[in-house]
Amino acid sequence: MNTAEWVVGGIVAFLAYVVSCRIYPYAACRNCKGTGKFRSPSGKAYRNCRRCGGRGRRRRLFAGSE
Ligand SMILES: [Zn+2]
Repeated sequence: MNTAEWVVGGIVAFLAYVVSCRIYPYAACRNCKGTGKFRSPSGKAYRNCRRCGGRGRRRRLFAGSE
């Protein structure tokens, strides 16, 4: 592959990612792995994850406004 083909491939992959973000705008929160809970050291108690506010999800890059 030459350089131009790599660039075109990169653009196509980027556009595919943007489209996928539009169709599936949410991903699991990285902080709580999608549970929305932040466990205490005992594992029995928990509070809402601060990063996602307990929703367990985050909006993906390019997902647009809510
Ligand atoms: Zn979270």
